[in-house]
Amino acid sequence: IYISASILEIGGRKVVQGIFRDISELKRIEREKKEAEALALIDPHTQLYNYRYLQRRLHSEFELAKRRATPLSILMVDIDYFKSVNDTYGHEYGDVVLQEFAIVLQHASRGIDVVTRFEGEGFAIILPDTEGKGALTFADRIQRIIKKHRFGANKVKLRISIGICSYPEDGIATVDHLLTNADKCVRFAKDQGGDTISV
Ligand code: GH3
Ligand code: MG
Repeated sequence: IYISASILEIGGRKVVQGIFRDISELKRIEREKKEAEALALIDPHTQLYNYRYLQRRLHSEFELAKRRATPLSILMVDIDYFKSVNDTYGHEYGDVVLQEFAIVLQHASRGIDVVTRFEGEGFAIILPDTEGKGALTFADRIQRIIKKHRFGANKVKLRISIGICSYPEDGIATVDHLLTNADKCVRFAKDQGGDTISV
């Protein structure tokens, strides 16, 4: 209930006036909007699928791959030294660069690949029906495309590190395993100085 009270003066006497309104319907709409927001599967900044979607999709693709005995690969793509783009040109410019980066990734991928924003300046791409060798070729192509591209008005150059993990060839038993393994690979690529692909 929404209550609003005010004091009025009528004929020299003070009177309290109260308004009571049933706002159950408004609250219901508010709750539904919050739920919808929480369920949102798109990253509003890049318009790519978000982490939540990645998890869901990876589970369904993994089940499909197991049932059909087909391979499945995942690529983790992380921009090297992205902080320096923000530090040099400002956070807003960094935002624009990330949006452009997302478009380039999407264009470089096949229609069946699922491009997602994993976190901040980290992206994950699901490659259905793709074994390690194919994923490596794809990673190599992405790296070359990014290297050639100049981002934003200041024509910034970017370098990326990529981690690849493939089911079943990397001895993968679960979705979690697939993700953590790909993440380990990208960390390893960083440890090698970045601008590297690690399998
Ligand atoms: P590394 O080579 O180890 O990946 O270094 P890095 O600077 O890319 O990575 P680090 O994890 O140290 O920092 C990530 C940076 O990415 C810092 C953070 O401010 C920036 N970042 C993450 N999300 C966004 C975003 O949405 N917009 C902008 N402008 N910057 C972002
Ligand atoms: Mg980074």
